[in-house]
Amino acid sequence: MSTLINPSTGEELDASPASASLEDADAVIARAHEAFPAWRDLAPGERARLLRAFAAVVDAHNEELARLEVLNAGHTIANARWEAGNVRDCLNYYSATPERLFGRQIPVAGGTDVTFHEPLGVVGIIVPWNFPMPIAAWGFAPALAAGNTVVLKPAELTPLTATRIGELALEAGLPEGVLNIVPGKGSVVGERFVTHPLVRKVCFTGSTTVGKQIMAGCADQVKRVTLELGGKSANIVFADTDVAAAAASAPYAVFDNAGQDCCARSRILVQRSAYDEFVGRLETSVKALRVIDPADEQSEMGPLVSAGQRDSVRAYLDGASIAFTGSAPDGPGWWLPPTVVESSDTSEAIWREEVFGPVVAVMPFDDEDEAVALANDSDYGLSGSIFTSDVGRALRVSRRVEAGNLSVNSHSSVRYWTPFGGYKQSGLGRELGPDAPHAFTEEKNVFIAH
Ligand code: NAP
Ligand code: MG
Repeated sequence: MSTLINPSTGEELDASPASASLEDADAVIARAHEAFPAWRDLAPGERARLLRAFAAVVDAHNEELARLEVLNAGHTIANARWEAGNVRDCLNYYSATPERLFGRQIPVAGGTDVTFHEPLGVVGIIVPWNFPMPIAAWGFAPALAAGNTVVLKPAELTPLTATRIGELALEAGLPEGVLNIVPGKGSVVGERFVTHPLVRKVCFTGSTTVGKQIMAGCADQVKRVTLELGGKSANIVFADTDVAAAAASAPYAVFDNAGQDCCARSRILVQRSAYDEFVGRLETSVKALRVIDPADEQSEMGPLVSAGQRDSVRAYLDGASIAFTGSAPDGPGWWLPPTVVESSDTSEAIWREEVFGPVVAVMPFDDEDEAVALANDSDYGLSGSIFTSDVGRALRVSRRVEAGNLSVNSHSSVRYWTPFGGYKQSGLGRELGPDAPHAFTEEKNVFIAH
């Protein structure tokens, strides 16, 4: 495996987990397959108890996991603690699943008809580097709860927390082979999840380009697939809102995690009559953002994850009309200041493409129809925000924006108990919420003649 680097300092970390080969991946998949029948057949209450025990062990290691993520991914310590807590919460939430995974009894003539939600078998989860802990848990918690075993590949850049969570699962008493962490290359381990016939579903989160390849690859075995891909979400600010409040919250909706967030509201649409006031206030709030060492309790934004990611973000800024920037530390590490660009041309890359860094493009609009049209003029449709004091408008616009996750007068982050996923090229299927375990089962219908 390539050397891991602390993104805040550019220094090498001494941890270097082994990178699984194709043979290693096959061996782990075989172990997960062997572990499946016993896990599936465990009494529901016992599977629930083990998931709660796992949650408790993760909780007891919150600070350790958070510190690892600060080191490996440059996340702010406050975010990283939330992320480790999110793993615990997902496990606790889905620990209620085993005793509640019931089917239906459907009236039929001449007999009884019942349905069952049967687990699939081995589920493959492929995780990106931007939220290593939550995205792993959004897959493995409902998958395990529904009675599947899991093979999980963390991103090459950020394998440390997933590897540790795998150890904690064993410490909590999960049987060997039930949750398997397989660090390695996407082109080797990730690709093997797609081609191996014993992996019955692939849950992929990452770029739209790789997601399309995964979907095409899964077609060969009609393998189940869930995709959580990119976004270019709009924050729509109407003039009838509290403009000061909207401008104060907008930076957090795009610069959190240094903009490396599929839900980043990276396009801000502002009604023309409020545009100048909004941009003026936005400048104040962006300049006040504390872009400092992510290990500092006060830090609100850290560095980008890698030199390569910073280069890719900088390329979007070449020739862009930068209105203003916030601050960032000088010196080593992959730092970039939060940057605000005023856009006037919807064909520009910075308006259309997912930058995945601390860059936001702002554009004025005149009326509600134009705001909706601009928001929907995208291949993506993951999230978005609507700021207005008119409740009718809030509902009209919420219904018309083509995106899976909208928030009104707020920028809510993902909640584990509500469904999450994208329209259009932002994804396929939904994760989280009360229905997620069903995405890890086959519905079976049984008719019993009387
Ligand atoms: P990526 O290159 O698509 O990688 C994501 C994961 O897929 C990594 O674990 C990667 O492994 C693996 N992978 C790469 N090529 C593969 C292949 N041919 N077969 C199977 N697996 C493969 O994306 P990224 O660079 O990590 O993350 C940035 C992108 O992810 C952005 O576009 C972002 O929007 C999107 N994203 C979306 C969501 C969401 O919930 N919708 C969440 C986070 C990120 P390696 O690490 O070895 O390359
Ligand atoms: Mg990649």
